[in-house]
Amino acid sequence: MAEVDPVTPDEKDWTWTLTRRCEECGLGAGEVDPLTVGRRAWVAAEEWVHILREHPAVEARPEPGVWSPLEYAAHVRDVYRIFDGRLHQMLTEDDPAFANWDQDQTAVLQRYAEADPEVVAAELEAAAATLLGRIQQLQAADFTRTGRRSDGATFTVATLLQYFLHDVVHHLWDVTGQQDGAASLEWA
Ligand SMILES: [Zn+2]
Repeated sequence: MAEVDPVTPDEKDWTWTLTRRCEECGLGAGEVDPLTVGRRAWVAAEEWVHILREHPAVEARPEPGVWSPLEYAAHVRDVYRIFDGRLHQMLTEDDPAFANWDQDQTAVLQRYAEADPEVVAAELEAAAATLLGRIQQLQAADFTRTGRRSDGATFTVATLLQYFLHDVVHHLWDVTGQQDGAASLEWA
């Protein structure tokens, strides 16, 4: 198997997206009603499935050091899985500390670049369905439960959901370059 070149690591702390609208993808995540995140994340997952099935160059990196649409989609599949796990932890433990997730190392170890787009599409949809189910069962008191990231950032269930939604929407922008991702989710 060919060596997979790593991409330029993303070292940015994205927690500012909870308080300011992101000018790149267009989403003001902090203003999103957490109750709507499940539906919006489901619509975003459907857009990812569409990209995996229809993108003319799904396996091509647009430039060296930048993930292909397939690699982004495999990452987004894992984002759905990781945040479902974190949500589960917050609901079953008191103020849990999340395990660190090295996204770039995972991309290399899991060989995102060699994944089958059709398999990733099915896995992404399944992961989104699992998370949607968990979100739909949340009770009002659950939204203030807390959890902590290994870098010290703290979240409530409400801000974790907002943060998560920005992640999947922002990566739609990464791949399409259009703010339609955020805009088309407004009505969802
Ligand atoms: Zn953004």
